[in-house]
Amino acid sequence: MHAIHDFTAKLRQPSLAPNLEIYVAWRRELARARAAGEADPEPPAIAPVSINLDVTTACNYRCTHCIDWDILNTKHKHQEEELRDSIRLMSERGLRSVILIGGGEPTLYPRFADFVGYLKELGLQVAIVSNGSRGQILLDAAVHMDERDWIRLSLDSGSNDLFVKMHKPANPKNDLDEICAWIPEIKAANPKVRIGFSYIVVWGGASRDGEVIYENIDEIVLAAERAKAARFDYIAFKPVLERQENGAEVMDPDKADAETTDVVARIRREVDRAKTLATDTFEVYESINLRVLEEGTWKEFTRQPKTCHVQALRQVLTPTGLYNCPAHRGVDKAKIASATAYKDTDSAAQTGYGLTQILDTFDASHECKEVTCLYNGVNWWLEKMTMDPTIDVKAEVGDERLDYFL
Ligand code: SF4
Repeated sequence: MHAIHDFTAKLRQPSLAPNLEIYVAWRRELARARAAGEADPEPPAIAPVSINLDVTTACNYRCTHCIDWDILNTKHKHQEEELRDSIRLMSERGLRSVILIGGGEPTLYPRFADFVGYLKELGLQVAIVSNGSRGQILLDAAVHMDERDWIRLSLDSGSNDLFVKMHKPANPKNDLDEICAWIPEIKAANPKVRIGFSYIVVWGGASRDGEVIYENIDEIVLAAERAKAARFDYIAFKPVLERQENGAEVMDPDKADAETTDVVARIRREVDRAKTLATDTFEVYESINLRVLEEGTWKEFTRQPKTCHVQALRQVLTPTGLYNCPAHRGVDKAKIASATAYKDTDSAAQTGYGLTQILDTFDASHECKEVTCLYNGVNWWLEKMTMDPTIDVKAEVGDERLDYFL
Protein backbone atom coordinates (compact mmCIF):
# COMPACT_ATOMS: atom_id res chain seq x y z
CA MET A 1 0.00 0.00 0.00
CA HIS A 2 1.29 3.44 -0.85
CA ALA A 3 2.06 5.50 2.28
CA ILE A 4 -0.50 8.18 1.38
CA HIS A 5 -3.26 5.54 1.56
CA ASP A 6 -2.05 3.90 4.78
CA PHE A 7 -4.53 5.69 7.02
CA THR A 8 -3.93 3.42 10.01
CA ALA A 9 -0.24 4.36 10.00
CA LYS A 10 -1.20 8.02 9.72
CA LEU A 11 -3.50 7.78 12.74
CA ARG A 12 -0.77 6.02 14.73
CA GLN A 13 1.47 9.12 14.50
CA PRO A 14 2.52 10.45 17.93
CA SER A 15 1.32 13.95 17.01
CA LEU A 16 -2.23 12.64 16.50
CA ALA A 17 -2.26 10.38 19.58
CA PRO A 18 -3.91 12.87 21.99
CA ASN A 19 -7.15 13.16 19.95
CA LEU A 20 -7.15 9.45 19.19
CA GLU A 21 -6.90 8.65 22.90
CA ILE A 22 -9.71 11.09 23.72
CA TYR A 23 -11.94 9.57 21.03
CA VAL A 24 -11.36 5.96 22.13
CA ALA A 25 -11.80 6.85 25.82
CA TRP A 26 -15.11 8.59 24.99
CA ARG A 27 -16.46 5.61 23.04
CA ARG A 28 -15.46 3.19 25.80
CA GLU A 29 -17.08 5.36 28.48
CA LEU A 30 -20.22 5.73 26.35
CA ALA A 31 -20.51 1.95 26.01
CA ARG A 32 -19.93 1.46 29.74
CA ALA A 33 -22.48 4.14 30.71
CA ARG A 34 -25.14 2.74 28.40
CA ALA A 35 -24.56 -0.81 29.65
CA ALA A 36 -24.94 0.49 33.22
CA GLY A 37 -28.14 2.40 32.34
CA GLU A 38 -26.45 5.75 33.01
CA ALA A 39 -26.69 8.97 30.98
CA ASP A 40 -24.36 9.36 28.00
CA PRO A 41 -21.10 11.17 28.79
CA GLU A 42 -20.60 14.60 27.17
CA PRO A 43 -19.04 14.38 23.71
CA PRO A 44 -15.39 15.50 23.86
CA ALA A 45 -14.38 18.95 22.59
CA ILE A 46 -12.30 17.62 19.72
CA ALA A 47 -12.35 18.40 16.01
CA PRO A 48 -11.65 15.97 13.18
CA VAL A 49 -7.97 15.55 12.30
CA SER A 50 -8.67 16.26 8.65
CA ILE A 51 -11.48 17.84 6.69
CA ASN A 52 -12.53 17.98 3.08
CA LEU A 53 -13.61 21.59 2.72
CA ASP A 54 -15.92 22.51 -0.14
CA VAL A 55 -15.50 26.26 -0.25
CA THR A 56 -18.04 26.63 -3.06
CA THR A 57 -20.56 24.66 -5.08
CA ALA A 58 -19.83 26.81 -8.17
CA CYS A 59 -18.10 25.18 -11.11
CA ASN A 60 -17.03 26.49 -14.50
CA TYR A 61 -16.89 22.98 -16.03
CA ARG A 62 -19.63 20.44 -16.66
CA CYS A 63 -17.70 17.15 -16.55
CA THR A 64 -19.95 14.28 -17.57
CA HIS A 65 -18.22 11.89 -15.12
CA CYS A 66 -18.42 14.31 -12.14
CA ILE A 67 -19.44 12.59 -8.92
CA ASP A 68 -20.89 15.87 -7.58
CA TRP A 69 -23.09 16.42 -10.62
CA ASP A 70 -26.25 16.89 -8.51
CA ILE A 71 -24.66 19.34 -6.05
CA LEU A 72 -23.02 21.76 -8.48
CA ASN A 73 -23.95 25.41 -8.88
CA THR A 74 -26.51 25.50 -6.08
CA LYS A 75 -26.91 28.85 -4.36
CA HIS A 76 -25.51 27.83 -0.96
CA LYS A 77 -22.50 29.86 0.22
CA HIS A 78 -20.20 30.03 3.23
CA GLN A 79 -20.02 33.32 5.10
CA GLU A 80 -16.30 34.06 5.09
CA GLU A 81 -15.97 35.25 8.71
CA GLU A 82 -17.93 32.26 10.02
CA LEU A 83 -15.86 29.92 7.92
CA ARG A 84 -12.60 31.42 9.20
CA ASP A 85 -13.86 31.25 12.80
CA SER A 86 -14.86 27.62 12.25
CA ILE A 87 -11.45 26.62 10.94
CA ARG A 88 -9.68 28.49 13.75
CA LEU A 89 -11.74 26.73 16.43
CA MET A 90 -11.19 23.37 14.75
CA SER A 91 -7.44 23.97 14.57
CA GLU A 92 -7.43 24.69 18.31
CA ARG A 93 -9.15 21.34 18.82
CA GLY A 94 -6.92 19.09 16.78
CA LEU A 95 -7.60 19.80 13.11
CA ARG A 96 -4.30 19.26 11.23
CA SER A 97 -5.16 19.28 7.53
CA VAL A 98 -7.62 20.75 5.05
CA ILE A 99 -8.29 19.39 1.57
CA LEU A 100 -9.93 22.07 -0.56
CA ILE A 101 -11.91 19.92 -2.92
CA GLY A 102 -15.24 18.91 -4.48
CA GLY A 103 -18.75 20.10 -4.73
CA GLY A 104 -17.42 22.77 -7.10
CA GLU A 105 -14.16 24.35 -8.27
CA PRO A 106 -12.38 25.75 -5.18
CA THR A 107 -10.49 28.49 -7.02
CA LEU A 108 -13.84 30.13 -7.86
CA TYR A 109 -14.18 31.02 -4.18
CA PRO A 110 -13.59 34.78 -3.79
CA ARG A 111 -10.17 35.58 -2.25
CA PHE A 112 -9.17 31.91 -2.57
CA ALA A 113 -5.40 32.47 -2.40
CA ASP A 114 -5.80 34.69 0.66
CA PHE A 115 -7.90 31.97 2.29
CA VAL A 116 -5.13 29.41 1.66
CA GLY A 117 -2.72 31.87 3.33
CA TYR A 118 -5.05 31.99 6.35
CA LEU A 119 -5.07 28.17 6.63
CA LYS A 120 -1.26 28.16 6.52
CA GLU A 121 -1.10 30.87 9.23
CA LEU A 122 -3.05 28.45 11.42
CA GLY A 123 -0.34 25.84 10.85
CA LEU A 124 -2.53 23.47 8.85
CA GLN A 125 -1.42 21.20 6.03
CA VAL A 126 -3.30 22.23 2.90
CA ALA A 127 -4.17 20.43 -0.31
CA ILE A 128 -6.03 21.75 -3.33
CA VAL A 129 -7.94 19.60 -5.80
CA SER A 130 -8.75 21.77 -8.80
CA ASN A 131 -9.78 21.56 -12.44
CA GLY A 132 -6.73 23.72 -13.23
CA SER A 133 -8.71 26.34 -15.13
CA ARG A 134 -7.46 29.29 -13.07
CA GLY A 135 -3.69 29.02 -13.19
CA GLN A 136 -2.93 32.47 -11.81
CA ILE A 137 -5.07 31.83 -8.73
CA LEU A 138 -3.40 28.46 -8.17
CA LEU A 139 -0.02 30.16 -8.45
CA ASP A 140 -1.06 32.85 -5.93
CA ALA A 141 -2.26 30.12 -3.55
CA ALA A 142 0.86 27.99 -4.08
CA VAL A 143 3.05 30.82 -2.81
CA HIS A 144 1.63 30.19 0.69
CA MET A 145 2.20 26.42 0.60
CA ASP A 146 5.13 24.26 1.73
CA GLU A 147 6.66 20.85 1.05
CA ARG A 148 3.95 18.94 2.96
CA ASP A 149 1.16 20.56 0.91
CA TRP A 150 -0.02 19.56 -2.53
CA ILE A 151 -2.07 20.58 -5.53
CA ARG A 152 -3.80 17.97 -7.68
CA LEU A 153 -5.42 18.81 -10.99
CA SER A 154 -8.28 16.64 -12.28
CA LEU A 155 -7.41 16.35 -15.97
CA ASP A 156 -8.35 12.78 -17.00
CA SER A 157 -7.11 12.97 -20.58
CA GLY A 158 -4.02 13.25 -22.74
CA SER A 159 -5.34 15.25 -25.71
CA ASN A 160 -7.02 18.64 -25.88
CA ASP A 161 -9.85 17.15 -27.87
CA LEU A 162 -10.83 14.54 -25.28
CA PHE A 163 -10.20 16.99 -22.45
CA VAL A 164 -12.72 19.48 -23.85
CA LYS A 165 -15.28 16.72 -24.57
CA MET A 166 -15.00 15.29 -21.06
CA HIS A 167 -14.86 18.52 -19.06
CA LYS A 168 -16.89 20.97 -21.11
CA PRO A 169 -15.00 24.06 -19.89
CA ALA A 170 -17.01 27.30 -20.02
CA ASN A 171 -14.22 28.65 -22.23
CA PRO A 172 -13.12 25.90 -24.69
CA LYS A 173 -9.72 27.63 -25.07
CA ASN A 174 -9.13 26.63 -21.47
CA ASP A 175 -7.65 23.31 -22.63
CA LEU A 176 -4.92 20.95 -21.47
CA ASP A 177 -2.18 22.93 -23.23
CA GLU A 178 -3.11 26.10 -21.38
CA ILE A 179 -3.50 24.36 -18.01
CA CYS A 180 -0.21 22.47 -18.30
CA ALA A 181 1.66 25.66 -19.28
CA TRP A 182 1.01 26.96 -15.76
CA ILE A 183 2.86 24.13 -14.02
CA PRO A 184 6.42 25.40 -14.65
CA GLU A 185 5.27 28.87 -13.59
CA ILE A 186 3.79 27.57 -10.33
CA LYS A 187 6.97 25.55 -9.74
CA ALA A 188 9.08 28.65 -10.34
CA ALA A 189 6.99 30.63 -7.85
CA ASN A 190 7.25 27.86 -5.24
CA PRO A 191 9.33 24.74 -6.01
CA LYS A 192 8.32 23.14 -2.68
CA VAL A 193 4.69 22.40 -3.48
CA ARG A 194 3.93 19.00 -5.06
CA ILE A 195 1.68 19.09 -8.10
CA GLY A 196 -0.17 16.03 -9.35
CA PHE A 197 -2.05 15.13 -12.54
CA SER A 198 -5.16 13.16 -11.57
CA TYR A 199 -6.60 10.74 -14.11
CA ILE A 200 -9.98 9.14 -13.40
CA VAL A 201 -10.12 6.14 -15.71
CA VAL A 202 -13.52 6.04 -17.41
CA TRP A 203 -14.75 3.18 -19.56
CA GLY A 204 -17.44 3.21 -22.21
CA GLY A 205 -21.08 2.35 -22.36
CA ALA A 206 -22.28 4.67 -19.63
CA SER A 207 -24.30 7.85 -19.94
CA ARG A 208 -25.77 10.27 -17.45
CA ASP A 209 -28.84 12.43 -18.01
CA GLY A 210 -28.47 11.77 -21.72
CA GLU A 211 -24.82 12.96 -21.75
CA VAL A 212 -22.30 10.52 -23.17
CA ILE A 213 -19.54 9.56 -20.76
CA TYR A 214 -16.28 9.44 -22.73
CA GLU A 215 -13.93 6.51 -22.37
CA ASN A 216 -10.30 7.55 -21.81
CA ILE A 217 -8.34 4.30 -21.46
CA ASP A 218 -6.50 4.92 -24.73
CA GLU A 219 -5.06 8.24 -23.51
CA ILE A 220 -3.48 6.92 -20.29
CA VAL A 221 0.03 6.85 -21.76
CA LEU A 222 -0.41 10.13 -23.62
CA ALA A 223 -1.45 11.79 -20.36
CA ALA A 224 1.57 10.40 -18.52
CA GLU A 225 3.89 11.73 -21.25
CA ARG A 226 2.19 15.10 -21.07
CA ALA A 227 2.33 15.23 -17.27
CA LYS A 228 6.04 14.41 -17.27
CA ALA A 229 6.83 17.00 -19.94
CA ALA A 230 4.83 19.66 -18.08
CA ARG A 231 6.85 19.00 -14.86
CA PHE A 232 4.07 17.55 -12.74
CA ASP A 233 5.54 15.59 -9.80
CA TYR A 234 3.26 12.65 -10.43
CA ILE A 235 0.28 11.24 -12.28
CA ALA A 236 -2.31 9.14 -10.41
CA PHE A 237 -4.82 6.76 -11.98
CA LYS A 238 -8.06 5.70 -10.31
CA PRO A 239 -11.32 4.18 -11.60
CA VAL A 240 -14.45 6.27 -11.98
CA LEU A 241 -17.01 6.12 -9.17
CA GLU A 242 -20.75 6.40 -9.49
CA ARG A 243 -23.42 7.52 -7.08
CA GLN A 244 -25.95 4.90 -6.00
CA GLU A 245 -29.57 5.67 -5.27
CA ASN A 246 -28.77 5.92 -1.53
CA GLY A 247 -26.20 8.60 -2.42
CA ALA A 248 -23.08 6.51 -1.77
CA GLU A 249 -20.15 6.75 -4.19
CA VAL A 250 -19.27 3.30 -5.50
CA MET A 251 -17.41 1.56 -8.27
CA ASP A 252 -20.30 0.06 -10.19
CA PRO A 253 -19.61 -3.62 -9.67
CA ASP A 254 -22.25 -4.78 -12.16
CA LYS A 255 -20.70 -2.70 -14.88
CA ALA A 256 -17.26 -3.85 -13.87
CA ASP A 257 -18.34 -7.48 -13.72
CA ALA A 258 -19.91 -7.37 -17.17
CA GLU A 259 -16.80 -5.93 -18.75
CA THR A 260 -14.13 -6.81 -16.27
CA THR A 261 -11.87 -9.02 -18.30
CA ASP A 262 -11.49 -6.75 -21.27
CA VAL A 263 -11.63 -3.35 -19.59
CA VAL A 264 -9.38 -4.20 -16.68
CA ALA A 265 -6.84 -5.88 -18.96
CA ARG A 266 -6.74 -2.79 -21.16
CA ILE A 267 -6.37 -0.46 -18.17
CA ARG A 268 -3.59 -2.64 -16.77
CA ARG A 269 -1.71 -2.68 -20.06
CA GLU A 270 -1.87 1.10 -20.44
CA VAL A 271 -1.03 1.87 -16.78
CA ASP A 272 1.98 -0.46 -16.99
CA ARG A 273 3.15 1.38 -20.09
CA ALA A 274 2.69 4.69 -18.28
CA LYS A 275 4.75 3.37 -15.36
CA THR A 276 7.79 3.00 -17.59
CA LEU A 277 7.87 6.82 -17.74
CA ALA A 278 8.54 7.13 -13.99
CA THR A 279 11.82 8.74 -12.91
CA ASP A 280 13.28 10.13 -9.69
CA THR A 281 11.31 13.32 -10.23
CA PHE A 282 8.14 11.92 -11.82
CA GLU A 283 6.03 9.23 -10.14
CA VAL A 284 3.21 7.12 -11.55
CA TYR A 285 0.62 5.96 -8.99
CA GLU A 286 -2.33 3.69 -9.34
CA SER A 287 -5.02 3.85 -6.67
CA ILE A 288 -5.90 0.92 -4.46
CA ASN A 289 -9.33 1.04 -6.11
CA LEU A 290 -7.76 0.23 -9.43
CA ARG A 291 -5.92 -2.75 -8.01
CA VAL A 292 -8.93 -4.13 -6.14
CA LEU A 293 -11.00 -3.79 -9.30
CA GLU A 294 -8.37 -5.79 -11.13
CA GLU A 295 -7.94 -8.40 -8.42
CA GLY A 296 -11.70 -8.70 -7.94
CA THR A 297 -11.14 -8.07 -4.22
CA TRP A 298 -13.32 -4.95 -3.99
CA LYS A 299 -15.82 -6.87 -1.85
CA GLU A 300 -13.24 -7.16 0.95
CA PHE A 301 -13.31 -3.36 1.28
CA THR A 302 -17.11 -3.25 1.46
CA ARG A 303 -17.51 -5.12 4.76
CA GLN A 304 -17.62 -2.20 7.20
CA PRO A 305 -18.34 -2.32 10.93
CA LYS A 306 -21.75 -0.97 11.93
CA THR A 307 -20.12 2.13 13.41
CA CYS A 308 -17.85 4.11 11.11
CA HIS A 309 -15.31 5.67 13.50
CA VAL A 310 -13.59 7.58 10.72
CA GLN A 311 -16.55 9.98 10.62
CA ALA A 312 -15.28 11.44 13.91
CA LEU A 313 -11.76 11.93 12.58
CA ARG A 314 -12.37 13.09 9.02
CA GLN A 315 -15.42 15.14 8.00
CA VAL A 316 -16.67 17.09 5.00
CA LEU A 317 -17.58 20.74 5.52
CA THR A 318 -19.65 22.17 2.65
CA PRO A 319 -21.88 25.22 2.11
CA THR A 320 -24.89 22.89 2.63
CA GLY A 321 -23.66 21.37 5.90
CA LEU A 322 -21.19 19.11 7.68
CA TYR A 323 -21.17 15.50 6.40
CA ASN A 324 -19.65 12.31 7.71
CA CYS A 325 -17.70 11.23 4.61
CA PRO A 326 -16.85 12.32 1.05
CA ALA A 327 -18.60 9.17 -0.19
CA HIS A 328 -21.88 10.55 1.22
CA ARG A 329 -21.36 14.26 0.62
CA GLY A 330 -24.67 16.12 0.31
CA VAL A 331 -26.79 13.15 1.48
CA ASP A 332 -29.30 13.97 4.26
CA LYS A 333 -28.76 10.92 6.44
CA ALA A 334 -25.00 11.56 6.39
CA LYS A 335 -25.39 15.13 7.65
CA ILE A 336 -23.91 15.80 11.10
CA ALA A 337 -24.70 19.51 11.42
CA SER A 338 -25.09 22.75 9.47
CA ALA A 339 -22.30 24.60 7.64
CA THR A 340 -21.68 26.60 10.84
CA ALA A 341 -21.04 23.41 12.84
CA TYR A 342 -17.81 24.75 14.39
CA LYS A 343 -18.30 28.52 14.20
CA ASP A 344 -18.12 28.91 18.01
CA THR A 345 -17.96 26.77 21.14
CA ASP A 346 -21.77 26.53 21.45
CA SER A 347 -22.14 25.33 17.87
CA ALA A 348 -19.26 22.90 18.33
CA ALA A 349 -20.95 21.48 21.45
CA GLN A 350 -24.15 20.90 19.45
CA THR A 351 -22.07 19.32 16.69
CA GLY A 352 -20.72 16.90 19.32
CA TYR A 353 -24.29 15.71 19.92
CA GLY A 354 -24.88 15.49 16.17
CA LEU A 355 -21.77 13.35 15.89
CA THR A 356 -22.93 11.11 18.76
CA GLN A 357 -26.22 10.63 16.96
CA ILE A 358 -24.71 9.81 13.59
CA LEU A 359 -22.27 7.37 15.19
CA ASP A 360 -25.38 5.67 16.62
CA THR A 361 -27.66 5.81 13.61
CA PHE A 362 -25.54 5.71 10.46
CA ASP A 363 -25.14 2.00 9.91
CA ALA A 364 -22.00 1.78 7.77
CA SER A 365 -22.40 -2.00 7.41
CA HIS A 366 -25.54 -1.18 5.42
CA GLU A 367 -25.01 2.33 3.98
CA CYS A 368 -21.50 1.57 2.74
CA LYS A 369 -21.97 -2.06 1.77
CA GLU A 370 -21.18 -1.28 -1.87
CA VAL A 371 -18.46 1.30 -1.16
CA THR A 372 -14.88 0.20 -1.73
CA CYS A 373 -13.87 2.06 1.40
CA LEU A 374 -10.15 2.73 1.75
CA TYR A 375 -10.76 3.42 5.46
CA ASN A 376 -11.97 -0.13 6.00
CA GLY A 377 -8.78 -1.20 7.81
CA VAL A 378 -8.74 1.89 10.05
CA ASN A 379 -12.36 1.36 10.97
CA TRP A 380 -11.83 -2.24 12.06
CA TRP A 381 -8.72 -1.21 14.03
CA LEU A 382 -10.71 1.53 15.82
CA GLU A 383 -13.64 -0.81 16.34
CA LYS A 384 -11.35 -3.25 18.13
CA MET A 385 -9.89 -0.53 20.35
CA THR A 386 -13.24 0.98 21.28
CA MET A 387 -14.76 -2.43 22.05
CA ASP A 388 -11.84 -3.78 24.08
CA PRO A 389 -10.91 -1.54 27.05
CA THR A 390 -7.86 -3.69 27.80
CA ILE A 391 -6.07 -2.44 24.66
CA ASP A 392 -3.56 0.26 25.60
CA VAL A 393 -4.03 3.03 23.02
CA LYS A 394 -0.58 4.45 23.85
CA ALA A 395 0.98 1.13 22.83
CA GLU A 396 -0.61 1.51 19.37
CA VAL A 397 1.35 4.70 18.62
CA GLY A 398 3.81 4.30 15.75
CA ASP A 399 6.16 6.49 13.69
CA GLU A 400 5.77 10.16 12.96
CA ARG A 401 5.25 10.80 9.24
CA LEU A 402 4.17 14.44 9.35
CA ASP A 403 1.31 13.53 7.03
CA TYR A 404 -2.11 14.51 8.35
CA PHE A 405 -4.27 14.10 5.25
CA LEU A 406 -7.04 11.54 5.77
S1 SF4 B 1 -17.35 3.26 6.22
FE1 SF4 B 1 -16.04 4.28 4.70
S2 SF4 B 1 -17.41 4.96 3.07
FE2 SF4 B 1 -18.66 4.53 4.89
S3 SF4 B 1 -18.86 6.50 5.96
FE3 SF4 B 1 -17.11 5.42 6.82
S4 SF4 B 1 -15.31 6.16 5.70
FE4 SF4 B 1 -17.15 6.69 4.51
